[in-house]
Amino acid sequence: MIMKFGGTSVESSSAIERVAGIVRARLEHRPIVVVSAMGKTTNKLLAIAADAVAGRRAEAMTQVAALRQFHLDEASQWGAADAIAEHFAELAELAGGLAALREMTPRSVDAISAFGERLSSLIVTRAFQHMGMNAVHADSRRYIVTDSRHTQAAPLYGPTYERLAALPRGEVTVMGGFIASTEEGVTSTLGRGGSDFTAAIVGAGVNASEIQIWTDVDGMLTCDPRIAPGGHRVKTISFAEAAELAYFGAKVLHPATVVPAIEKNIPVLILNSRRPEVEGTRIVAENVACDNAAKSIACKRDITIVNVGSTRMLMAHGFLRRIFEVFDRHETPVDMVTTSEVSVSLTIDNTARLDEVTAELRAFAHVEVESGQAIVCLVGDNMRYTPGVAKRIFGALEAVNIRMISQGASRLNVSFVVAERDLAKAVESLHREFFTELDPRVFD
Ligand code: ADP
Ligand code: ASP
Ligand code: MG
Repeated sequence: MIMKFGGTSVESSSAIERVAGIVRARLEHRPIVVVSAMGKTTNKLLAIAADAVAGRRAEAMTQVAALRQFHLDEASQWGAADAIAEHFAELAELAGGLAALREMTPRSVDAISAFGERLSSLIVTRAFQHMGMNAVHADSRRYIVTDSRHTQAAPLYGPTYERLAALPRGEVTVMGGFIASTEEGVTSTLGRGGSDFTAAIVGAGVNASEIQIWTDVDGMLTCDPRIAPGGHRVKTISFAEAAELAYFGAKVLHPATVVPAIEKNIPVLILNSRRPEVEGTRIVAENVACDNAAKSIACKRDITIVNVGSTRMLMAHGFLRRIFEVFDRHETPVDMVTTSEVSVSLTIDNTARLDEVTAELRAFAHVEVESGQAIVCLVGDNMRYTPGVAKRIFGALEAVNIRMISQGASRLNVSFVVAERDLAKAVESLHREFFTELDPRVFD
């Protein structure tokens, strides 16, 4: 059994004590525990890197000292002080190097952001040992092998599964999520939120009976609680539905998590580390019988629409290919696409290379960029069999200006774009329409 605990679940000594209690109650399953960095550590490490590379050396060092103190305060009691001090000496050296070079590569970003999980996994191991459990630490960088696309690396399943076959097992084994290394042994990371993915990779590698994702909510809810409170817990959902929700912004699960789980047909559970008695959400292979048309609403903020118009009135053959090649060359993923006779609208959430993308597109097309947008996505495998879903969506969103709309080929989602300022209203209206009457077999 794999038990993954996210940042808030290990954010302090008392949170780690809670985790220890949850793990202790399940020792008969010989769990492998995967932990995220404590609290907001990854964000802080990235801020340190940014300060260093901008030449703000003193600020970077002040932040290193503060993060060090935080870890010492929370974890010294478990005999982790020496290990913490060593790690922070290494981090300070790296940050100093960045400040001197004033150059940051994706590879050095990974070297810095990996400290969060390196530390948390050691600390949690020590805490478990201190509390009398026979806990073994395994450095994920020795077991998860990835390609060298630093900051967004993809696992190489062959060598990873081979190495995981030799994973040391104690009563409980503790590993850091998110971190890995390339075949050459250089530290890499799986992308933000990637600890869920680590849990699934390890689960598939050891043929676990179950992958548990312990977080700070009762499970997958019918809507994002940060956008609209009052969502209901979804008790069971299919891999396909969960994957759509994760892809369209339900942060509770990293979108890649279901890939290894599907491959080995291992159920994934989402559970609340503050309320372990709640059943959570069970994600399974089969479709789930349900009277409701939809299972949940996901949303993604901070979306940018790129409208691309053909300079000739009719879209010539090859026009779409040329557009997509530009996005591809600049490694900018496109989430949604709609077309008309003379134009194509695309949405992106990563604008790091937007200037280069638009410059290239302008060589053969008119380009217009609109920021401040949001994607809303209604998901449920019943939607394909239920007539009138579109009518209900448009009825509920009467007062909102919908910018783009699309139904995925899987037909289990309908997604649309609204201005970010309309997001809460759109989600609340949709939620009222689709989740007022609930099938008790699926919703709590
Ligand atoms: P962790 O640190 O445990 O990985 P995350 O912050 O990554 O936790 O994910 C949990 C958060 O996901 C919740 O606190 C919630 O705000 C957000 N979230 C977004 N959409 C949903 C949803 N549909 N159901 C539950 N939580 C959601
Ligand atoms: N610590 C990493 C992050 O903040 C990975 C994770 O928490 O899943 O993105
Ligand atoms: Mg997460």
